Parts: sequence; structure tokens; C-alpha cells
Amino acid sequence: MNRFSAFIFLVLIIYGVVLGQDKWSIAIHGGAGAILRENISAPVDSSYRAALTRHLQHGSVLLAEGANAIDVVEAVVRGMEDDSLFNAGRGAVLNDAGMVELDASIMDGKGLRAGAVAVVTKIRHPVSIARRIMDSTRHVLLAGEGAEALAGRYGLELVPNRFFITTKRLRQQQQRSRKEDYGTVGVVALDLHGNLAAATSTGGTSNKLPGRIGDTPLIGAGTYADNNSCAVSCTGTGEFFIRLGIAMRLSHYLELKKLGLAEAAERIIHDELNQLGGSGGLIAIDKDGEIVTVFNTGGMYRAWANSSGTKRIAIYGNE
Ligand code: ASP
Repeated sequence: MNRFSAFIFLVLIIYGVVLGQDKWSIAIHGGAGAILRENISAPVDSSYRAALTRHLQHGSVLLAEGANAIDVVEAVVRGMEDDSLFNAGRGAVLNDAGMVELDASIMDGKGLRAGAVAVVTKIRHPVSIARRIMDSTRHVLLAGEGAEALAGRYGLELVPNRFFITTKRLRQQQQRSRKEDYGTVGVVALDLHGNLAAATSTGGTSNKLPGRIGDTPLIGAGTYADNNSCAVSCTGTGEFFIRLGIAMRLSHYLELKKLGLAEAAERIIHDELNQLGGSGGLIAIDKDGEIVTVFNTGGMYRAWANSSGTKRIAIYGNE
């Protein structure tokens, strides 16, 4: 090694030490469900792949520039809430009364800070009021009108409920389709500073009873992040994820049982969730940047990338 390369090597080491680490990872999901290759047309398949690629790229660029994981998960979920392909924000499913009611949450693995919102009907970006609840109030979870009033006070965009309703969802509701409509969105990230964060946003399950709250806004059920273990975002039949406390369970399996990320996630989804009769999946990243995406359904819209150059987009079970 000549002097110059020794110098560069030293600079990189110092840079790594100062930053805490030198790697980032991100995973996103757009819901899990009976998503089978034979039921999805080529144009629909490619529109989901294009959307996943775009949202993944958004987060990857931010992380590579040194953004904080908490800002990245919020920014990417906001983009997905605006994307009517997904069951979150615009494009969310309708409840039994023909309205959209939204749930969202966000958690910072540094200091276990969290914010969440449930049953809101006019906040364009529910994940951002969850973030404000985390940053600026002494609470974790707000629901309904109180959350909307707060969003107004913080200057977040409020829209009429019909803003969220797309023709596709209207048709589904008119047919009283009981078909589980997944499409919840979630993002987990590890940043260059060694911090983990997770965020999840959803319209819940189609034809749900008005007022129903799923796992998504419940910290420990649908979302969790702890710098000592992992960041997790779940999607699926929320009632089962609540009963199992899936997101926090994964974190505990890593920290207390010392299981590896993949082993823990598979046990939870394929053994425990299956046994209870629930369906869905999760995405997670551990503190070393390992990524898992696990589900017991036909497919899960998902994508992941890291600083070593990995970049994957996937929909079905066998890819
Ligand atoms: N978990 C969400 C809920 O139960 C729905 C989903 O992920 O599709 O509200």
C-alpha cells in the first residue's frame, strides 16, 4: 500500500467511525394478500413494479445522502399515501358506510419515540400527523377529530373524504367485495448513523365497521423500531397482528431470545400467525442492516435495497 492509498484508507475509516457506520438499508411494502401471478395482468404487474421502484429509489437516495431513517420512512410513506395503487391515503379502501378511515404510525428506534393516528378521515398524509404527535405532543396515539384538529393547527393538508376515494375502490365497495384488500404501505430503514425507523399507513380492511382500528397504528402490533434490535412494518389481517403483538414480538425474539432476524420472522409468520389463522407478512431490518420480507399469503408487494448495491423488486411468493 503506497502512502496515498494508506491516507485514503485512513480517511474512510475515520469517516466510518465519525458517522457511526457506513451502511444503509431500506425495505418497503405495499401490502400482502392473495396476489397470484395468474390473477395479475401484465400492465398491472408492471405498474406496481414501477411504483415500487420509484418509492424505493426515493428512500435509497435520501439514505445515501445521509438523511435520518425517521425522515426517510416518513417521506417514502407520504409518497405511497399519494399513490392510488395502494391502500393508504388516496386509493384507500372504503368501510361499510362508504367512507375512508385512515390509520398510520411511525417509530424512531433511537429512544423508542413513537406517534400514531387512527380513524382519521381528512388528513392527506396520516403518517405526517403521526410524526407531529411523536415530535410535538406528550402522547403516542390520537384518534378522529382531535387528531384532525391538531393536523389543522400544524398546517398539515386537510382534504374532503372524497379526495381519497378512487373509482376502483368505489366499485369494490358497491360489489360488497369481501375479498381482502391488502395494499397497506410500510417502510423500514437503517441510516448511515446507525438509527432504525419504521412507518406504516393504511385504509384498513375493506368493508370494515366504521370506527374499526387495525394493527397499523398500534405500536408493537403493526409497527416497531428499536436501535438495539430491528425496525418492523406489518401488513395483513390486523386483528391477528394485534393479538400476537407481532412487531414487538419480532424485536423481543432478537433481543431476548437472540434469534437471527430471518429465523425470528419466519417463526412468527409461518408458525405463530398461521396457527392462529391470520394472514399477512412483515418487512424488517436489523441493526446490522440485514433485511427480511416474510409472508404467508400468495404475495406481498415489496422492494428492498442497501448500500452494498442490492436492489430488488418482488410481488409473488416464488421470486
Ligand atoms: N393490517 C391492516 C389492517 O388490518 C390491513 C392490511 O395490512 O392490509 O388494518
